[in-house]
Amino acid sequence: MINQEHKRIVTGDRPTGKLHIGHYFGSLQNRVKLQDEYETFILVADVQALTDNFNNPEKVKQNVREIVMDNLAVGLDPNKSTIYLQSMVHEVAELTVFYSNLVTIARLQRNPTVKTEIAQKKEVFGESVTYGFLGYPVSQAADITALDGTLVPVGEDQLPLIEQCREIVRKFNSIYGETLYEPQAYLGENKRIKGLDGNEKMGKSLGNAIYLADSEEEITQKVMNAITDPARIKKDDPGNPNICMVSYYHNLFSNKEEQEAVCSECRAGKRGCVACKRQLAKNMIEALRPIRQRRKYYEERPEEVKEILMEGTKKAQKIAAGTMERVKEAMKLDYFKN
Ligand code: ATP
Ligand code: MG
Repeated sequence: MINQEHKRIVTGDRPTGKLHIGHYFGSLQNRVKLQDEYETFILVADVQALTDNFNNPEKVKQNVREIVMDNLAVGLDPNKSTIYLQSMVHEVAELTVFYSNLVTIARLQRNPTVKTEIAQKKEVFGESVTYGFLGYPVSQAADITALDGTLVPVGEDQLPLIEQCREIVRKFNSIYGETLYEPQAYLGENKRIKGLDGNEKMGKSLGNAIYLADSEEEITQKVMNAITDPARIKKDDPGNPNICMVSYYHNLFSNKEEQEAVCSECRAGKRGCVACKRQLAKNMIEALRPIRQRRKYYEERPEEVKEILMEGTKKAQKIAAGTMERVKEAMKLDYFKN
């Protein structure tokens, strides 16, 4: 049932906020790079977003459009890549039920990403996490396999979830016969982008992000407030670029020559932080300009955005229906077929 030649990207984002440069370097950039080589499906994970935002459905709804626009803004071509809405692919819910027999509660509780996230979400869950949130890796496995995904471009925090998906696939195939594709994670060079405040992860809800939708003024203002070497007080104090967020982002947005000058002049106390920040803001504004411009195009055309998502969802539904036929046959749930 499995075609060894088959190649397809399935990945996505939770509509819990606009996307930022962490998402860009962690995953979006790779989606764009690979969209000519791979058939590409991007899911807007609204059902997954509800697992920890069940009491705020309006937030999830509002952000669906933002996520679609962010993906289009970075250069995903709607004629090549498909963007779709998770909640409208019903097979995902059905597969989640089937897969839940193949995962133990202890294994879910040991998943390092789930563990960290539960610890961060005490205010949502209190002392006892919901069944839905604990089980979201299972529904994410359903997302990827429903669409027969083979490659999943993601940031580093997603690796334990992809690993859990692979385990579910192997277990399914060993019990019911070769039916599902086992996907692989695809990590970029910059698998985890730090926040403006020095936090290990730039996050949608941490107030430490530069969003793809930010204006030139917002970018400048955020860069001017970024954390630098705290021991450096006067301009001619020697600085340590290794603990400076401005230097960190120069490595992502400035050319090699500039990066080297930033480091050596900072260490020698020859470059002030303000000048260094201004240069970074200028480079960031420049690099993000085409993204901002494409985003603006779609902001002005909400109907076009809706149409892209609707068409994409229809395409995803067809593929998921095919997977479900294979799965039901393998699981002997095809009573009326023969
Ligand atoms: P949430 O807090 O709602 O989970 P999030 O910022 O983690 O939001 P997701 O929608 O969960 O965003 O993730 C979308 C993709 O972006 C995933 O592949 C994830 O690994 C990647 N990603 C998110 N933040 C970063 C980051 N700071 N650096 C690199 N990749 C990231
Ligand atoms: Mg996340």
